[in-house]
Parts: sequence; structure tokens; C-alpha cells
Amino acid sequence: MWRYLRSVLWKAKLIRGVFNTAQSVNTDKFISNGPCSSVSGNKWVRPSGFATGLKTFNSLTKQKEPLILKRERVATWYSCGPTVYDHAHLGHACSYVRFDILQRILSRLFGITVIHAMVITDIDDKIIKRSWEENVSPTTIATVYEDEFKRDMLSLKVIPPAVYLRVTENVHHIVAFIEGIIKNGHAYATKEGDVYFDIQSIGDRYGKFVGAVDSQGEPGSTNKRDSRDFALWKQSKPQEPYWESPWGRGRPGWHIECSTIASSVFGSQLDIHSGGIDLAFPHHENEVAQSEAYHQCGQWANYFLHSGHLHLKGSAEKMSKSLKNYVTIKDFLQSYSASEFRMFCLLTKYRSAIDYSESSMLEARTSLGTISTFIHDAKAYMKGQLQCTPVQEAVLWERLAETKYSVVNALADDFDTPRAISAVMNLVYHGNCQLQPVSKSDGVARSPAVFGAMVSYIRDVLDVFGIDLLHIKEADVISSCGSLEGIVEKLTHFRSEVRAFALARQDGPIAGSPNKLGLYPERIPLLKACDILRSDLAPLGVLIKDRGATSTWELTQGKPSQRGQDKDQETSS
Ligand SMILES: [Zn+2]
Repeated sequence: MWRYLRSVLWKAKLIRGVFNTAQSVNTDKFISNGPCSSVSGNKWVRPSGFATGLKTFNSLTKQKEPLILKRERVATWYSCGPTVYDHAHLGHACSYVRFDILQRILSRLFGITVIHAMVITDIDDKIIKRSWEENVSPTTIATVYEDEFKRDMLSLKVIPPAVYLRVTENVHHIVAFIEGIIKNGHAYATKEGDVYFDIQSIGDRYGKFVGAVDSQGEPGSTNKRDSRDFALWKQSKPQEPYWESPWGRGRPGWHIECSTIASSVFGSQLDIHSGGIDLAFPHHENEVAQSEAYHQCGQWANYFLHSGHLHLKGSAEKMSKSLKNYVTIKDFLQSYSASEFRMFCLLTKYRSAIDYSESSMLEARTSLGTISTFIHDAKAYMKGQLQCTPVQEAVLWERLAETKYSVVNALADDFDTPRAISAVMNLVYHGNCQLQPVSKSDGVARSPAVFGAMVSYIRDVLDVFGIDLLHIKEADVISSCGSLEGIVEKLTHFRSEVRAFALARQDGPIAGSPNKLGLYPERIPLLKACDILRSDLAPLGVLIKDRGATSTWELTQGKPSQRGQDKDQETSS
């Protein structure tokens, strides 16, 4: 058991911090990866390749499967990006942040280089409609909201994909892709100039995500062979943007862009395809049908990962633009930080629906606050500012080793982030239990190293998830004032001296004095002034903690801190 644990941890440690640059992509031609596995029907075939030791839920089989990659320690990953016609909202943020966390886990914890390509849908009915409403060109609308989307993702600390690809820059590829599908006998053009995918031509292969029998199909030409057939190419209507094609002027259907662009980067096989659960049908179903028809293969993408919806608490509806029940990312970031949003996402599994509310965000904030406070206290202990009863060091070393084991195991099991966070919080709990402040601890053995190890490990894990506690603090100090830290240090020191003077006991009881503690009555106002200073600084983001005779401080991101009310900070009474 322990030998296995050591080898897992050694492996994880060995590969941590290895950042491979994504390989350059080839958008000029389709890369041939050799023959695809050839199967009939919907049966999923376990890929041949390199086992990763991870398991992931695969929407194609609706169960957890071992994650096997075509190349050793390299994952090809395609994701459907935004349709850029409006502000991105928290529902989008949630999906992108969750998959960003998954990719960080693969790369930073398991040493797998993720080559992530994402499409930007910059031509679409909604973009055209918006451009008419605003009386500007579709390109203008798309450019404005694409830029905003990229800025939003950066402010949420989402690592950009290796490459973003726009639909409008790939229309010639899309036309060639459609020609290939027609040549293979799986699509047909109508006399109006539309091209449809021929669902009957693939028999029982259609319906990998839902029972295809129940599907209604999209509205369209009456010349469709089957009501479920979907558009690959749509003839242009007057005043719409168009491209020339063998079927006349028109523009691509929605699903074909993803099949074409993913194939242009990764060829005929893809390790992982991701998107929100609402994209599974018909979008991903149709992507699969098109790609397998083009490549003449039985299994194009080996794993489909779908993230759950974000709901406003108390509402059964997902957050969406059409329902007008959304919060924009920019508005959200006025009240909460990117790290707090990440913690909110980490507290549920990526596949689950997630309830957004003030209270769920406060829960995330509190979890991060608990971790920050522990790190602060552990550092104060290491510096000798916080004096404690003797620490059971061996217990803490053991807890730390167990936590590392639990975190790696949880994340290898379909990226179970709530279980990993729970293991970290448990470590924090045990660390806090050992930090019992005493006013005098002369001669007591100290154990700073184990606290140093815990601080470093917790920071490393949060860094894997994209939460950088260290950087948040530094950025705050730099942005507010370069010497703020020095000023707070001096102020706290001065206050400590005053407090120590005010807390001094009289030698003996004074007759008739109501003060049982034996304080000098004339010094009590100084003690009260110290309390007032502490509570006045808390809303300004400076949290002073009194530890017996000494005091420590931390910056709390400029937000009012509820932790300022903690009981362990009582001074005068
Ligand atoms: Zn797509």
C-alpha cells in the first residue's frame, strides 16, 4: 500500500511543473493519422494507445472509462467555443473554467501535454440578427464580442487554447469537407442550393448520445430525404453574408464547422472533445456523424466530456441569454474574485448541475478564507510570532502524506475535485488543531518544518487548480501601494507595544478596585483604542490578530472580512 502510494506521489512530483509547449498545428490540410478503428453500430471501442492511470466519464458509453491517449503523455482536445454575438455570462464561465481546471489537472499534476483547439463561431444566424439590430456589419459584432470573450477568459485565469480558429477563416476547408462527405455518399445537395447530411446513409450509427429515433430534426427544406437530416451548407438569403461554393452562394451550417476545424488540426482521430451538456444533442451527435462519414472511420473522438449546467438557485432553468436570466462575467467580477469562482466550481463535480447563489459563493469565499488564514497562521508560527502548545509533528507528517495520496486518487477518478478539496480542508483542519496559541511557551519544542511543508503543498494544489494565493496578495500590495506592507508592519508593531503596556498587571490587588484582572485603570482606554483601531482596519482589508502578547496581520484583498469577528481575537475583555 505505502509502496504504491510512494510511487504514485513520486510520479506526480516528477512530472509536476513540466510545461510542454503545444505542438504547432497544421490548418492547411487534414492530417492523416492512419486508418481509424472500424466498427459498425454505436459500440464504443476502447482506444489503443497509452494508459494514463486516470478514469473519466465518457458520454459515449455513459460510464467511467480508463483514459487512453493515442500518444504518450499528449492529449488532443477540441472544444466548441462561443458564438460571439453578446456578452458571455456566468453559465459560459462555469463551463470554460471547469474544463480549464480539468486541463490543468492533466498537465500540471499528471504531466500530460494538452493540445487544445477551440473554434470561435463568428458567423451565425444570431450574429446576423444582432448586426441588423445594431446596424453594423456581422464582422463588427463578432470582433467586439470575440475580444470581450477573450478578455473575460483571461480575467477568469482560463489558460487560452493552443489555438483559436474562426469559422470565417476556414470556409474553404468546410466546403472541401462537405465535398468529401458527398463523395462518400453521406450528403446530398438540393436544387435550392442547400446541402444536407443523409442520416439514413449511416444506419444505426446515428444516435450515440440519445435515441435518434426520438429526434425531430431541424426545420428546413421540404426536399430533405429524412426530417432528421441537418444542413451542412445553407444557401444565402438576401443581405446575408455569403461565400461561393459548388452549390452556389451560401454559408456553412452550424455543426460542420466543428467537424472540419477539429479535423484540420487533429486529423481523423481525437482524444477528447468537450462542451456543455446542452451541446451533446444534436450538435455533438451531428459532429460525430459528419466526421466519421468524412474520415470513413468508426470512432472519431474517443472521449466526450460534458459539463453540467449552471442554474440560478431556485430555478430549474439553466442560465442563458434567451431566458434573460443571466449575470455577465464582468458584473460578477465586481463582487467576487476569479479564485472565488474557481473554488465555487471546484466544490461540485464538473459533470453536475451547479446552483449559483449568494450563499454558494459565500461558501466558496469562506473555504478560501479558511485556507488563507491557516497559511497565514502557519507562517506566523514558523516565524515565531505565534506561540503554541507542543505540536504533534509525526501526526501532521502522516496527515500530509495521506492528503497527497487522497488528492491524486480523487483527481484520477473522473476529476473528482470536491473530494480533493475536502482532503485539503481536512489537512487544514488538522493543522489548525495543532496551532493552539499560548501566551508563554518558553522552552517548548517547535516544529516549523512540517508547517512549511503543509503551506507549500496546499499552495501547489491550489496552483494546479489555477488559484494563486501568493499572487493575489502580491498583486494587491503592488496595485494599492508598494510600501503598504511596510506601513502595516510598523503600525501593528506600534499597536502591539501599546497593547502590551496596557495589558500589564498591577503587582497586587488594589483595594476597592472593580477591575478583577488587575489592569491599571488609567491604561484601559489605551486597550479600547487598540480594539477600535483593529476593527476600523478590518473593512479596509487589514486583519490584525492578537495572539496573547503579540499580534499578527494579513491583507484580506481589500474586502470587509467576517473573519475580523473571530473569537480568538478578543483583546481587552
Ligand atoms: Zn462544436
